[in-house]
Amino acid sequence: MIISIASGKGGTGKTTISTNLAFSLAQKGHKIQLLDCDVEEPNAHIFIKPKVELKETTSFVVPQIDEEKCTYCGECVRVCAYNALFVAKDKVMFFPQLCHSCGGCAYFCPEKAIFETNREIGEIEAGSGYSIEFAYGKLNIGEVMSPPLIKRLKKRIDEDKVVIIDAPPGTSCPVIEVVKGSDFCLLVTEPTPFGLNDLKLAVEMLKVLKIPFAVLINRWNEEYFEIDSYCDKENISIVMRIPLERKIAELYSEGVLFSKELLEWQDAFCKLFDSIEGLWK
Ligand code: SF4
Ligand code: SF4
Repeated sequence: MIISIASGKGGTGKTTISTNLAFSLAQKGHKIQLLDCDVEEPNAHIFIKPKVELKETTSFVVPQIDEEKCTYCGECVRVCAYNALFVAKDKVMFFPQLCHSCGGCAYFCPEKAIFETNREIGEIEAGSGYSIEFAYGKLNIGEVMSPPLIKRLKKRIDEDKVVIIDAPPGTSCPVIEVVKGSDFCLLVTEPTPFGLNDLKLAVEMLKVLKIPFAVLINRWNEEYFEIDSYCDKENISIVMRIPLERKIAELYSEGVLFSKELLEWQDAFCKLFDSIEGLWK
């Protein structure tokens, strides 16, 4: 089963949930794989403390122009749907951050003046910690093309295990790349107007993708019930509430899994998994 953990906004505690869910299930004997696909800001490794067994760079095929053959006809510019090429008087300019590696420019160049070369965009580290098979991707600083790195990371999915995927925040392309193919998505939110606003966006995204989902309210308190009202109205299950507690926050700030120290939470996360399975089947 593949469960992605997502949220409409950053800072809701997605990583706390994915790591504690993975840890609690592993403690109870489940075979777990955890993938941190929040490649712009991966931090699950801080909690899992994996023994890294593999490091690999990920690159991306991009065009390179052979100026000797180029006649500056502009065909490649017309072909490129992403505006990654521009022909000046006697130069073809290439903007690598815009290139989606479709290969169209090389295919259609009448002079065969374009060849393909690799551009490194980030790296993947894999290993294990707390009996969890773990991998995460790190996008190079300044790089914007995270989907190819996410795709590479997702190639590691082992469906014989319970796969937990920590998604990037938001509802843009990288999130869609991460959550597509998931059997279930757990949306983590917080009880604030901002949390509710971004939860609504994430719900709309999952409806379009036709992925079953439920909500977890993190830092829950008894003062803001708008999320309950919204979920009630939309018939969305709230499968867990984690209260705003000082001890949990302290353990988080020390990079410690709170379910490792507060043992009652291991059963709570296992019940969460049962609820997810119940909603999925
Ligand atoms: S299509 Fe080929 S020949 Fe024409 S401008 Fe582009 S690289 Fe040069
Ligand atoms: S590979 Fe595709 S996206 Fe990249 S420059 Fe060529 S046509 Fe544009």
